[in-house]
Amino acid sequence: MTHWLAVAVPTPAHSGVGEPLTYRADAAVPAGSIVRVPLGRREVLGVVWGDAPAPSPALEPQVRALAGRFDGLPPLSADWRALVAFTARYYQRALGEVALAALPPQLRTLSGMQLARRLKRLPGPSASDGAAAAAPAPNLTPEQATALARIEAGGGPFLLFGATGSGKTEVYLRATAGALAQGAAAQVLVLVPEINLTPQLLARFADRFGASAVVAMHSGLTPAQRLAAWLAAHLGQARIVLGTRVAVLASLPGLKLIVVDEEHDPSYKQQEGARYSARDLAVYRGKLTGATVVLGSATPSLESWHASTPAPDGPGRYQRLAMPRRVGLGPNDRPTDGLPRVRRVDMGRQPRGTLIAPPLMAAIGERAARGEQSLLLLNRRGWAPVLHCADCGWKSECPHCSAYRVFHKIDRTLRCHHCGLTERVPRACPACGNLDIGTLGRGTEQLEERLIECLANTARPDGTPVRVARIDADSTRGQGQLEASLARVHAGEVDVLVGTQMIAKGHDFRRVTLVAAVNPDAALFSSDFRAPERLFALLMQAAGRAGRDTTGGGGAEMWVQTHHAQHPLFEALKAHDYPGFAARELAERAQAGLPPHAHLALLRAEARTQDAAQGFLAAVAHAAQGALAADPALAQVRWYPAVPLSVQRVAGIERAQMLLESPARGALQRVLASCQPLLHQLRARPAHRAVVRWAIDVDPLAV
Ligand code: ADP
Ligand code: ZN
Ligand code: ZN
Repeated sequence: MTHWLAVAVPTPAHSGVGEPLTYRADAAVPAGSIVRVPLGRREVLGVVWGDAPAPSPALEPQVRALAGRFDGLPPLSADWRALVAFTARYYQRALGEVALAALPPQLRTLSGMQLARRLKRLPGPSASDGAAAAAPAPNLTPEQATALARIEAGGGPFLLFGATGSGKTEVYLRATAGALAQGAAAQVLVLVPEINLTPQLLARFADRFGASAVVAMHSGLTPAQRLAAWLAAHLGQARIVLGTRVAVLASLPGLKLIVVDEEHDPSYKQQEGARYSARDLAVYRGKLTGATVVLGSATPSLESWHASTPAPDGPGRYQRLAMPRRVGLGPNDRPTDGLPRVRRVDMGRQPRGTLIAPPLMAAIGERAARGEQSLLLLNRRGWAPVLHCADCGWKSECPHCSAYRVFHKIDRTLRCHHCGLTERVPRACPACGNLDIGTLGRGTEQLEERLIECLANTARPDGTPVRVARIDADSTRGQGQLEASLARVHAGEVDVLVGTQMIAKGHDFRRVTLVAAVNPDAALFSSDFRAPERLFALLMQAAGRAGRDTTGGGGAEMWVQTHHAQHPLFEALKAHDYPGFAARELAERAQAGLPPHAHLALLRAEARTQDAAQGFLAAVAHAAQGALAADPALAQVRWYPAVPLSVQRVAGIERAQMLLESPARGALQRVLASCQPLLHQLRARPAHRAVVRWAIDVDPLAV
């Protein structure tokens, strides 16, 4: 007998086909089964979404048959399918695209036979995994014990607001032990922001629960490793899955607990394809499956902070668990005791063009002479952001992008950080021939060079010269270079480390006793409304990590060079006062109608001309507004005019966006759902031929 199946297949996002397609099979196939089906001239993987209605007799001959099945692979659960369906709907993508992106790519290349062989090779679940503690657990601090008790009492989602070093990881470990004890099939998902942070946490979980209980899931795995990790999670052999944002969509039939570490980190937001937030999906997944959700951070996202703030009429949506005290503080110590002292250098009083103020330079020298490490943060790589000619005004613009090419002195190149165009530095001004071309602004290369110069006469305790190193995207391009550089820092082989924010994240800089933000002011007045939040988190995290090795009151310092020494952000930083910072920032967001007080989405278009990109967005808005005019509930959604992106042109393509803002998520979702078909239809019209691509970004990080 013929069965009709609805199968989610990876249709390209721009094909306009978002729903499952109908296929025929000669036997019933359970929903959630992974199958192989013909699609156009290709054969692709699909996921059976359920039975399909029988096609009309006229269409029946056109319905194609399943090409293959993976027997021996249990179907994906109804919960998993519901999560994928929600993700597709909420982020405005095709169902099959999201479903298939969540499966390991290597599955595509395997036959049923080959998969059966892989399955046989997987280790069976061992009874002791997750049960026996390999490493003994320390006694909990009172704060940890209180937090854990509340997590184990159920409810949530929980926001574990714990200072750096307050022992959040220990709480995750205990909560994991509790979740695994719920049953032999229980599973735990632990999300971390970046691949290079997984090894540290992986080691702590493996120590506690045994290496075979834990699998890692992130984009750095080989296809074969990804498949093995996915299978282990899907079959329940992995009790603990530790991974980056991709892992939030892993199949975990026994899921009982989801931990999102450093929940404020922007890398939880996917920036292409389905632009989902893994943190938000984790919260949704918890609600869907009944798993407990724990979000942890010393500097929570303002969204999570707001959600966990008690409302006048009751508790917040999230339960906040506070652990303000670092492990090891005595009963009479204040939470801020031993944290670095924050020192502000008023750059308005320094000579114009000062890169490192003399008192900061002196402090770095003293620390190096004592054998201590310093860490300098500057969020601009290269030597100088612009090369220019004072005679004619020429600047090192990229011919393909609306951005300047950055001067890299090390290899004497001009490099575009957007399209990658790299050229030798011209010897004379390309416009007027002037030989005396100069630079504007400073980058990490210049900072490194200046430090080497200024510290040339400073000796380390053993009389050897001070060692300066730089870590940024340029110095870590090669494979393993970042790890090698970090290892040198951890081993104490570097005295002064210069870097972009990539070095401040999560890494353990116990020997660092001085952290300096060299030029953080741009974030105070950025057009990106989240820039102050990110700056505050970055500096708090860096300060929390500095000087952890120094005993008894530390003497660690955090320096901030600024023209705005009295800015409330730096006042809050000085007091190590995240709640104070958050309250002020949230009040500003409320006034400006920004998240979490409003919900945003962006329609983006890329086209050969800026006019074409903006015109396309305007046409979509016009059509959507016309179609929705009858629905008064949607009047609350505000449409802004189409504008160019701040970097308007990249690699010769013009980029524009249109902001939609709404006090209610539901209204925004309905508007976006009605834009979706219009984007497809209008894109197909000759009038919009110049449009290259478009995208919808729901809950964008930046606008
Ligand atoms: P966080 O993740 O909050 O920054 P960690 O979990 O890394 O903090 O804990 C900081 C340090 O304190 C770690 O070295 C950890 O092993 C240790 N630690 C955590 N909890 C305890 C405890 N209850 N007793 C003793 N040491 C602890
Ligand atoms: Zn010139
Ligand atoms: Zn470019």
